[in-house]
Amino acid sequence: MAETEAPKHGIQVDLRDQVAIVTGASQGIGRAIAVMLARSGAKVACVARNAGKLAETVAAIEAAGGTAAAYSCDVTSGESVQKVVDEVAEKWGKIHILVNNAGITRDTLIPRMSDDDWDSVIQTNLRGTFLFTRAVTRPMMQGRYGRIINISSVSGIMGNPGQANYAASKAGVIGMTRVVAKELASRKVTVNAVAPGFIETEMTEALGPVVLDEVKKRVPAKRLGHVDDIAGAVLFLASASASYITGQTLTVDGGLVA
Ligand code: NAP
Repeated sequence: MAETEAPKHGIQVDLRDQVAIVTGASQGIGRAIAVMLARSGAKVACVARNAGKLAETVAAIEAAGGTAAAYSCDVTSGESVQKVVDEVAEKWGKIHILVNNAGITRDTLIPRMSDDDWDSVIQTNLRGTFLFTRAVTRPMMQGRYGRIINISSVSGIMGNPGQANYAASKAGVIGMTRVVAKELASRKVTVNAVAPGFIETEMTEALGPVVLDEVKKRVPAKRLGHVDDIAGAVLFLASASASYITGQTLTVDGGLVA
């Protein structure tokens, strides 16, 4: 059984008539974000490479009465990303919300880090965020409304040994968030980042029980986070209540970098 619990009473946000794209929606945090946005009324385009797992996310949303569609896409491919954005705009008319969540780790200490370890993490986490952001910019500017939410990491703020590639990509996401926020603010498009601490997903499971026990001792809240802790922060930033918040990074980490 999972050790972490979902927050019991989530915030109520009305996203009816809104269209969202969530990358990395085939599992973990991205799936939780897609489900929560759909539960709030948004039509959700779920993006990832694994078509089978994406279908499970869409089925979960539809079973709960929501609307979703699956888009198999590698976020590192500019051509595929543009195709997804064009198809979503064609299908549902507009794009109001983009959540750049797709991400990978390739942890190892710097002397052992291969070119491929470096490149693949930067390509997925940073280039993928850039490609989707660029692709939605025009439709959001034309609609004079938008919410772009980038999933960074506390690693990009405080650095974790073994994560030079990952921390660089996530710090880059924070920098990009600040810049694009300034570029789009006058068009009523906000751009913010959420920086999760250690959240219970397959990504953290890969760290193994010994490391995770150490992590829990270091986190002031003495537990890992739940995927809905991150989805709730994203939902707030996607809401009308967050219209004057832009360029910010919200850490959701049980007090780790406080
Ligand atoms: P996860 O369970 O490993 O899921 C990662 C997701 O990204 C999957 O849906 C995966 O789908 C997708 N993805 C990876 N490469 C992709 C690509 N090239 N194109 C399209 N989709 C791709 O990870 P998670 O823990 O949910 O993490 C989600 C995000 O939160 C990541 O950006 C991660 O860096 C960040 N984060 C997580 C934690 C944590 O503690 N879990 C902490 C801080 C930040 P496919 O494999 O199907 O493509």
